[in-house]
Amino acid sequence: MMVLGHSRCGAVTAAVGTEGKSEGNIGTILETISPAVTLARNEAKSKEKAVLVEAAIDQNIKLVCKSLITQSEVIKHLAHGGKLKIVGAKYDLDDGKVTLFDGK
Ligand SMILES: [Zn+2]
Repeated sequence: MMVLGHSRCGAVTAAVGTEGKSEGNIGTILETISPAVTLARNEAKSKEKAVLVEAAIDQNIKLVCKSLITQSEVIKHLAHGGKLKIVGAKYDLDDGKVTLFDGK
């Protein structure tokens, strides 16, 4: 199972810009992304927005990989039994390459 994020994501860019203050359906999406934004702010080497957005995209991919295990008994069972592997990856819109994330 692949969790495939992508560079220059508009949803993550919006989440970095608003810090979850939007309302309605978009607000719900941004709230879901906000833990990744917090992690990115803590670890990013630069406060530049484009750097933060890419760091938040990476963190969001990792968090979604983890949440698949914690939110689905079926996926957890298969993953722990070695029948399913969850792989995070990022699609680069500029060169079309997909980079796989290592392990954890
Ligand atoms: Zn996107």
